[in-house]
Amino acid sequence: MSVFSSPYTMTIDGKSVVADRQFEAFNPATKAVLASVPDASKDQLDAAVAAARKAFENWRNAPLSQRQAAVASIGQAIAQSAEELMALLTAEQGKPRAGAEWEILGSAYWCEQMAKQSLPEEVVEDSANRRVVTRFSPLGVVGAITPWNFPVLLAIWKVAPALIAGNTMVLKPSPFTPLCTLRLGQLCQEFLPPGVLNVVSGGDDLGRWMTAHPGIDKIAFTGHTDTGKHVMRSAADNLKRLTLELGGNDPAIVLPDVDAKRVAPELFWGAFQNNAQFCNSIKRLYIHEDVYDAVRDELVSFAKTMKTGNGADADTALGPIQNQPQFNKVLEFIENSRLNGHTFALGGDVDTNAAGWFVPVTLIDNPPEDSLIVQEEPFGPILPLLKWRVEADVIRRANDTRYGLGASVWGKDLDAVQRIGAQLDAGTVWLNEIHQYSPNQAFGGHKQSGIGCENSLHGMMEYTNWHTITLNKVWNE
Ligand code: NAD
Repeated sequence: MSVFSSPYTMTIDGKSVVADRQFEAFNPATKAVLASVPDASKDQLDAAVAAARKAFENWRNAPLSQRQAAVASIGQAIAQSAEELMALLTAEQGKPRAGAEWEILGSAYWCEQMAKQSLPEEVVEDSANRRVVTRFSPLGVVGAITPWNFPVLLAIWKVAPALIAGNTMVLKPSPFTPLCTLRLGQLCQEFLPPGVLNVVSGGDDLGRWMTAHPGIDKIAFTGHTDTGKHVMRSAADNLKRLTLELGGNDPAIVLPDVDAKRVAPELFWGAFQNNAQFCNSIKRLYIHEDVYDAVRDELVSFAKTMKTGNGADADTALGPIQNQPQFNKVLEFIENSRLNGHTFALGGDVDTNAAGWFVPVTLIDNPPEDSLIVQEEPFGPILPLLKWRVEADVIRRANDTRYGLGASVWGKDLDAVQRIGAQLDAGTVWLNEIHQYSPNQAFGGHKQSGIGCENSLHGMMEYTNWHTITLNKVWNE
């Protein structure tokens, strides 16, 4: 029987496991219940950690080529089940087909590419007297905790490097989007030894149990900055290693020499990809005053051609907000702008009786810099457009945030674009492009957007300890 026709189960020690308690997963475009999902008990988490610990002993010593092949097989399994996974992702997350393709086929590609990566030992000295090498040895059991906006891709960004480096894992998806991750766990059991990848589902408490668990050596976490701080505090007891990928309030700076019609679609997708439920969405759009009106008007015209609706419909460009609490949060941002008398260039009217949690694309026309919509990430399709005149001033405003995840600069004058980009304090700065990622490119946040990075050998190193071994070759002479 295909896993796609079986019930949703957790995977612990290579076996499909149900739980005494269940919770429900919803389709955000219809608010209908999609499935019942196991709600893991603390004993089940203990069993998953114990299985990962037991599997670690063999997995860490398995040849690198075997671990790389296993990750390549995960990619092939995703590619072979791509149609089912894409349909399931649209149903549970809300994203339309194009976004589901990007995420699912992207996850397969990531596995294929990361399966080529390795961390060779570094020979620091090899002289007549001494040999010194630094190896990268695995940490042990990794606890991976993921959010609901890109549940599959952000899991793969953790699973692939952790397993190649020789670790085993307990993976917990967001309670809002558990289904694809549970399927992934089931699919992987065909070619992974039992216990190497365990998938457990549950609420935020399960995340808290993981971060406090003495049997887990590292937490790889993607989510809110405030949750990341809880994770860090909780992980302190056994000094867990941490990679934290957190929130962002990414600025985009548009120079006076742009062609408004040409740049508007790119800025639109930079801001509204994944219905703006994206850590790296443009969340503050600084447009030079010479082109402000033209860019704003082109954005409004372009946005009007984009349909918000059920991601399963072929003509839908933007899906729903993924869950009710997030929907309420986005409404608060809109209400706050209304109460403060901001001008709406587009949108703002939300039908709270609609079939799903839909919010129309909303553009706020030059609100004050200290307004909520400029200061905090809404994680929904509401974008402030802001005017600037002096270069030093816009750089200061762009950097004046607790976040530092991404940023972009747009303009024909490449000297100016590069000069401004070099001064933006963010983990990734895109110049005349956006949302370009690669398995070979370090991705992470500055300031309160995170600690450490994912992807590239820098990211893989975060799943290892330095292990420096020195040999005195002449000791016995
Ligand atoms: P969230 O922090 O609410 O939840 C993320 C995960 O943490 C979920 O699995 C949740 O169950 C778990 N969790 C919640 N409380 C916990 C606790 N106290 N201890 C341990 N685990 C806990 O985030 P979300 O709403 O799912 O995701 C949206 C946020 O994620 C946004 O802020 C967004 O910017 C950020 N994000 C960042 C990146 C990045 O790479 N930097 C990528 C995607 C999303």
